[in-house]
Amino acid sequence: MRLAFKVTAQVGFFLVMVAWVCGAAAREVVPGEFIVKMKGRPSSVRSGQFLGKVASRASLKATFGKLNIHHLALQPGQNEQLFLQDIKNDPDVEYVEPNFIYHKADGVTTENRAYSLAEVQSLAAAAASTTTTSPTTGGATTTGATGASANNNGAVSAAGANYSQSHANTEIPQAWAAMSSASLDVPVVAVVDTGIDYNHAVFTSTGAIWTNPGEIPNNGIDDDGNGYVDDVIGWNFVDKTNTPFDDEEHGTHVSGIILGVTQNILATTLVPASIRIMPLKFLDSTGSGATSDAISAIYYAVNNGASVINNSWGGPDYSQGLHDALTYAYQHHVTIVSAAGNYGSDNDTNPLYPASLPIPSSISVAATDNYDALASFSNYGKQSVHMAAPGVAVMSTVPGNLFRYMSGTSMAAPFVAGLAALALREAPSLTGYQIGNMVINSGQNIAQLDGSILSGNRGDGYQLVIAAKAQGKATPLQPDYVASAPASADRAPATESTSKAGCGSVALIGKNFIRPNQPPPQTLMMILALSLLPLIVWQLLRRRTIENRRRFDRFVLNSEIRVRVGDRELVGQMNTISLGGASFHAADAMLENGGVVTLQIAGPDGQDQVQVEGRIVWNEANQAYGVQFEGAKLGALERIRSWSGGLRRI
Ligand code: CA
Repeated sequence: MRLAFKVTAQVGFFLVMVAWVCGAAAREVVPGEFIVKMKGRPSSVRSGQFLGKVASRASLKATFGKLNIHHLALQPGQNEQLFLQDIKNDPDVEYVEPNFIYHKADGVTTENRAYSLAEVQSLAAAAASTTTTSPTTGGATTTGATGASANNNGAVSAAGANYSQSHANTEIPQAWAAMSSASLDVPVVAVVDTGIDYNHAVFTSTGAIWTNPGEIPNNGIDDDGNGYVDDVIGWNFVDKTNTPFDDEEHGTHVSGIILGVTQNILATTLVPASIRIMPLKFLDSTGSGATSDAISAIYYAVNNGASVINNSWGGPDYSQGLHDALTYAYQHHVTIVSAAGNYGSDNDTNPLYPASLPIPSSISVAATDNYDALASFSNYGKQSVHMAAPGVAVMSTVPGNLFRYMSGTSMAAPFVAGLAALALREAPSLTGYQIGNMVINSGQNIAQLDGSILSGNRGDGYQLVIAAKAQGKATPLQPDYVASAPASADRAPATESTSKAGCGSVALIGKNFIRPNQPPPQTLMMILALSLLPLIVWQLLRRRTIENRRRFDRFVLNSEIRVRVGDRELVGQMNTISLGGASFHAADAMLENGGVVTLQIAGPDGQDQVQVEGRIVWNEANQAYGVQFEGAKLGALERIRSWSGGLRRI
């Protein structure tokens, strides 16, 4: 049974890889919708002539004047192929591409429950009283991930002192102590995401939500003439309304992390925010959104004063429209921060957009755990992923005045966006290019990250604030940059596509300014002339190696274990645990080889509980049942992994 399961699991992985690597039919687009860029400088006359020509066949959904881009939707009954042929032959058209769909970069819920503020503060107080215990003897250690961060025991740290832990020392409270009390500026961070619960007490009490100074609320007039009526606190590009409320959870969680880098969001008395967060909803209630709406949100962010844009989302399809929109942000000195992705894959060979766009002010962020190890789910890329930040079991805000642990590069990116805001408080005149470099270069070098990401650095708040203070009066500068499609890009409309971006090709993205002592290679590599097979085999071998390594990493953990089978629950005693599984004694006829069960495992302190699904196996040698965790949610495995730092290995 065990062998059969392993084979099945690997075949499953193989199929997933094929879909990811080559996925000819996997492109996700909005049917009948296109992004069209006009040639040359923006011209209302030429755009008007073009739109007049196509008006009987397609409707205009949006125009981004400064980008020279139109968003078109085919009229019902029109022949898409003929329409596209005509557009591509139009002398005024530079490119036409599908309206791709992107997804939130997960944000794995580490456990099912959410916490009230009082509960989180209680956990924080408990954590504060135990942080003096050495982690090597099984005591608590805090991640220092954000203003609301998880520790080994599932608790959170609140006061600044709780960040002074030995692991993942992001030096956030030290940054707060070092930063100027009077901000030189109030940086605006645009959260391009699922929206924000702007009624959450953390945001209302701090005044952290951006407000549009040029708009008079609810008068039905576009007072500032930016194209949006009564856009007082941002915009909902999904529903086309002025209420960017979060109907998922992702954007609210991301926003809490950004604010949490700049102040303690778990304090009993919340102090006024020194940054502003601009809610721009383009991902819907399923966490998915169209390129056209992403472009709209980015265009809005730039035109309304955002100096940082956080993108905790992405996809494998290259969009020049998205590239052009973020290049527009770059030209306006915006720092761009994007999640590297949660596929555990190499962005150097399989780019994820927008993280992999080679824009000089863009930072692609991997996720690390409590011990500064790359999170098992995190994408990496020695050339194209610039830095890392904590992204495992991060406590932050969710709608309804609640808090929740989540894991993902979605959580790592906003940590870096918060860092960029901290730097801009001290150095508001610097460009996104300069701020981005400073955020990356001030990070702490982590030896075990050196081979996985470009800088090998994990963000460090204190070093960043010191650097920003020292360089605050430097001359603003940035290199010229022209967006051009990577060689691997497949921009053919969906109906003509034979492959997708990244299929068998490599678009390496380097930034020769990042590490002065170690310039990266050229910005583009040749297309790989190899078949896909070696890549897939390599991935399988890598996966297998990781699994084998985990199988040997077994730790002593005497803990109660509850096994739920259907509507019954067995209580057993567990002696050892690894990321591959747990063995326990609970002989019962209900436990059958191959059965799927849910386990609730108590952590080293007896308090932290992890719920994990697994498959029952019988170990003849040990005369004990075991549960294999393969297929378990990453967040649960990361929590178990975080326990292991204080456990004895056998
Ligand atoms: Ca307006």
